[in-house]
Amino acid sequence: MVERSIAVVGGAVAGLAAADRLASAADVTLFERQSYDDKRVNCGEAINDTSLIPLAKTPENGFLNDVDGFELRVFEGREHGPNAPPLGTSLIRCPPGYITDRDVVERTWAEKVAADGVDVKENAAVGPDRFRELCRSHDYVIDATGQPALSMRAFGDLDAYTGEIVAVNADVDGDFGSIASSPQIFFEGYVGYAWLFPKSETRANVGIGWAGEERPDEYYAALEGACRRNGLPVPDRSETNIYTIPRGPSLDPAATYRAGKNVVLVGDAAGIANRYQGEGICQAIRSSSLAAEAILEDRPETYPDRLYELMQSEYRLAHLMRGAWVEHGDPRLLARVAEALDGLTVDDITRSPGRVAARLARHPVTASRLLADAGMRQRLVDAYTDSWEYTRGPHPAD
Ligand SMILES: Cc1cc2nc3c(=O)[nH]c(=O)nc-3n(C[C@H](O)[C@H](O)[C@H](O)COP(=O)(O)OP(=O)(O)OC[C@H]3O[C@@H](n4cnc5c(N)ncnc54)[C@H](O)[C@@H]3O)c2cc1C
Repeated sequence: MVERSIAVVGGAVAGLAAADRLASAADVTLFERQSYDDKRVNCGEAINDTSLIPLAKTPENGFLNDVDGFELRVFEGREHGPNAPPLGTSLIRCPPGYITDRDVVERTWAEKVAADGVDVKENAAVGPDRFRELCRSHDYVIDATGQPALSMRAFGDLDAYTGEIVAVNADVDGDFGSIASSPQIFFEGYVGYAWLFPKSETRANVGIGWAGEERPDEYYAALEGACRRNGLPVPDRSETNIYTIPRGPSLDPAATYRAGKNVVLVGDAAGIANRYQGEGICQAIRSSSLAAEAILEDRPETYPDRLYELMQSEYRLAHLMRGAWVEHGDPRLLARVAEALDGLTVDDITRSPGRVAARLARHPVTASRLLADAGMRQRLVDAYTDSWEYTRGPHPAD
């Protein structure tokens, strides 16, 4: 039997997961523009479901802090000092979760896929011309280049994405011994949050992200302010990254497969990261598993529907969770919602609308206040009729 030839472009979590799933059944080449020896990641580095990554969960492999869960702390606004009591707190559990050095995880994973037979090419940036050439010379091309996807540049469809989250973050040194097992998330009266994700007792990732339309004039100053208010070390600006995350679904699902070119988009390239908390690593890995499955069955045209089906509950729940911030703008209500969700898992609150609804049903005053808002009710309709902002096809050059 002639093996399928597959080019994977982009070698972070999405690309590595795709290469891993395809290695045993195809002739796979992976192109990554950077070196795996560089610190090459702009991210909070919390991986909520590490069971999706086929590596031993050791510090040597980059899995540094096996966390119990995330502590949510809801404040009235941005006036508090480091010792002020929050309006509400809650612990969202995360049994398979780790705070990682993601560059080390990816380096180790790249070594594994190379050992499994994938031709891993580092320092191998692919430009639009080369991408089009790869489409001609391979049975399939997997675009795992993040957002905006390289295939969009190659085929002139860059305007296809809608909506993004902006986030700023950095690693800092400090004393995190007492809170190492429960990373903290701070809600402070804007649509978004700041975070402290300890990697060890002395090192942590701090950051802040904005999921709404309102954003500060000065991103670095906003991160520094959040650090001061919450008693966190303030990072050096030269060490701070700024980046955008797609707001899933920010791309027409039909555009995640380009039939004429046999290109499949995975991870951030497919525009699927969570629209209220910005998580995208597990989503990227899951999308790559589906893409690999569809390719191995030689039914790539089924990938968009499979991906949408997988993500649908998450899109709905994330839209409604955003509503609790955007429509109400009431930190006290947000605090009651957070408390109602106490003890659920990250998986529950991102992918199980039924579990979230069951919890809120036990807090009828909070639930009825949430639904009293017309905007919230409209969100419910939109989420369950799949009314999203992206532009539906046809897309150029399909
Ligand atoms: C500040 C911040 C914090 C975040 N925190 C978290 C978090 O804690 N947990 C979480 O789950 N998610 C988090 N996210 C989201 C998460 O980082 C992304 O959803 C995730 O990285 C998507 O993975 P990916 O592999 O699809 O794309 P990317 O991580 O964007 O990787 C794309 C890869 O493709 C390579 N590439 C790009 N162009 C080319 C080219 N032309 N040729 C060859 N290679 C190319 C890049 O070098 C890169 O390695 C965060 C995002 C930000 C911005």
